[in-house]
Amino acid sequence: MTKIVDLRSDTVTQPTPAMREAMFVAPLGDDVYGDDPSVNALQEKIAALLGFEAALFMPTGTQSNLCAILAHCQRGDEYIVGQMAHTYRWEGGGGAVFGSVQPQPLTHQSDGRLALEDIETAIKPDDAHFARSRLLALENTWGGKLLPFDYVQTATKLAHDRGLTRHLDGARLYNAAVAQAAQNGTTAAAEAKSIAQCFDSVSVCFSKGLGAPVGSALCGSKALIARAHRVRKMAGGGMRQAGFLAAAASYALDHHVERLAQDHALAQRLAQGLAGMPGLAVEAPQTNIVFVDVVDQAKERASELVEYLNAQGVRANGLYRLRFVTHLDVDAAGIDHAIATIRHFFQA
Ligand SMILES: *Cc1c(COP(=O)(O)O)cnc(C)c1O
Repeated sequence: MTKIVDLRSDTVTQPTPAMREAMFVAPLGDDVYGDDPSVNALQEKIAALLGFEAALFMPTGTQSNLCAILAHCQRGDEYIVGQMAHTYRWEGGGGAVFGSVQPQPLTHQSDGRLALEDIETAIKPDDAHFARSRLLALENTWGGKLLPFDYVQTATKLAHDRGLTRHLDGARLYNAAVAQAAQNGTTAAAEAKSIAQCFDSVSVCFSKGLGAPVGSALCGSKALIARAHRVRKMAGGGMRQAGFLAAAASYALDHHVERLAQDHALAQRLAQGLAGMPGLAVEAPQTNIVFVDVVDQAKERASELVEYLNAQGVRANGLYRLRFVTHLDVDAAGIDHAIATIRHFFQA
């Protein structure tokens, strides 16, 4: 039996032996009483790394974004967000369901930006007819794309000048930081902080490319985090001896940031291996996600390919277009196996 090459998502990683060891020896307390030393240490670490006063450990990125939206907005407020952003599209409408906060979705530009003019026109005047425009929510990376840093600066400044607060869904902030550091010849730590500092709150996932089994953190001011803490309680996110999980996240911050460059290189390797293959249109990856369109006459061809890949031990997501995500449990041999399998499919 060949090893499974699981390219469905960077959430599928298993904790490494060293990460498991860090979890195993983590000092624990009861975080609902605020005395789990490993949770407290992680919260202090991520807040300091990203330049915020405070942070809150969360079971999931979805809960972290929900707590952020409800900490920024009151009932009857609205948040401006991308039509395909996770905080709008993929979180069950939580802001509206739990907070009576109305989303104002905007169409993305092909590079992931929300056009400045669109943001500008979406901000409503203070008038009884309208929901109160309160928050701009951006996502970086978005679909594996790095938002241009000058855009992030301009869009968040525009929001601030118009009296809105700013939230970043940085589920893959460190992928963005590593890619931006490669462009600028700086460090990922410096770029992560520069990006984060454009926002009033930032949510980061530890369970994606960073390779921890569970967890996200929301960072912000002490006042914002206090409000988010109340929402987390209501959402049932108060965890007890959560230090086991916080220790894994902390280990990931120490050891798994720089290595994201390897995931980005593997995504390049996959894209290059598939480039020019008849029947496929490959989008050049900027970080660890490769989108591939099956430009075949038959629509079913994409799902047939996903099934064929599965049978050959390669897992991918492919509802409309194929998505391959690289991470710390994939290597070059796995990528080459995926390329060869896809070539076979089209030759058969
Ligand atoms: C994965 C992800 C989240 C959070 O997902 P959870 O599964 O709830 O941890 C949020 N935003 C983006 C962009 C993501 O990719």
